[in-house]
Amino acid sequence: MAEHYDLLIRGGTCVLPWGEARADIGVTAGRITAIGAPASASAAESFDATGLYVLPGLIDPHVHLRDPGDAAIESIPTGTRAAVLGGFASVFDMPNTSPAITNAETLAWKQGYIPGHAFCDVGIYIGATRTNAGALAALERGAGVCAIKLFAGSTTGDLLVEDDAGIEAVMRAGTRRIAFHSEDEYRLQARRALFTKGDPYACHMEWRDEECAFLGTRRIMALARKTGRPAHIVHVSTAEEFDYLRDFRDVATAEVLVNHLTQIGPECYETLGGYAVMNPPIRGRRHYEAAWAAVRNGLVDTIGSDHAPHSRSAKERPWPDTAAGLTGVQTAVPIMLNHVNAGRLSLGRMVDLMAAGPARVYGATAKGRIAAGFDADFTIVDLKRCRTIENDWIVTPAGWTPFAGMQITGWPLATILRGTVVMREDEVLGPARGSLIRFT
Ligand SMILES: [Zn+2]
Repeated sequence: MAEHYDLLIRGGTCVLPWGEARADIGVTAGRITAIGAPASASAAESFDATGLYVLPGLIDPHVHLRDPGDAAIESIPTGTRAAVLGGFASVFDMPNTSPAITNAETLAWKQGYIPGHAFCDVGIYIGATRTNAGALAALERGAGVCAIKLFAGSTTGDLLVEDDAGIEAVMRAGTRRIAFHSEDEYRLQARRALFTKGDPYACHMEWRDEECAFLGTRRIMALARKTGRPAHIVHVSTAEEFDYLRDFRDVATAEVLVNHLTQIGPECYETLGGYAVMNPPIRGRRHYEAAWAAVRNGLVDTIGSDHAPHSRSAKERPWPDTAAGLTGVQTAVPIMLNHVNAGRLSLGRMVDLMAAGPARVYGATAKGRIAAGFDADFTIVDLKRCRTIENDWIVTPAGWTPFAGMQITGWPLATILRGTVVMREDEVLGPARGSLIRFT
């Protein structure tokens, strides 16, 4: 008797963990049940992927969906719509909301809110504070929790644990990998006095200089060694940190951002003004080259967008009152596909960094690979599709992208979530089907 599936993805070139292969993929009850389904197989629904690449559902492990917060800027419904339109099947959402996700009560609210409101699957970060270390071991085991996030340097919101004793107390609470924003708060504060209101936007990379990031990462690495607690350094942004992290691969993993692989200072500040301001800053060419070297030599484990929307008025304030953070969840996949077409990395390495890497680092063990029994999440890509990124394509209510006008080759045509096509050709299909991601 011929096999029957809920969904068959036919004719595509699949990016499998062991290489690219032409194979028909069978899906049953939301899981991958066949790689290389026979031509005689039948299915309730068929997706013709002829001429297209079938990637595992991509994961953005670093977004700020601002919910609870100001829905006129971003929310879980709008931000996850942006994610699936941009080719992501999963996002991991940061805790510096208003109120922040730092205790059982706020976590329970978010766990209950995601089903029915999220269009992709979601992992939840718990924010570390000066007073919640005693609760973190239990909180990090909660349903859907991807990690604790510790801000050692200040950015949007008021989550901050900047001193060694406070960071060590968090590291000694619980066992799972902690995600760190590692800029050194003391150096940031000391250097602020060197600048005055209304200085050029490019001063952002002088204020939060290389040493702010490098000093912070050195301190986190010393504490990770001391406590044995695994650390994930998000948005590594300097050549010095990449070089230093070589000696800490037993305790540390690293993220690089799409922006740091795409934009270069000071030119970006001259072109974009406040729309180039983010933390840590977009830096000069030496650091851009170091980020690409780290992609090529394996030092980087994950790529994130650090999607962090603000209103236009907040972005257009004079520096340094400009709100730091850029939209990015909808544009990250097209931009990385464009980098693939430009020969900067292979499609296989992109999948490693944007699917398998986040799944491995955070313990989402049923996601990130096309493999039997895994969640049937897919990002279907046309590597030849040419398109220009436009502000009016952005569905985040803030309504802008720093990449407007960028010409792209390579585009996500469909997003499939646990066997259901949730985006096809710029259209979000059906109700909000996202759920909490399972982590080990
Ligand atoms: Zn962030």
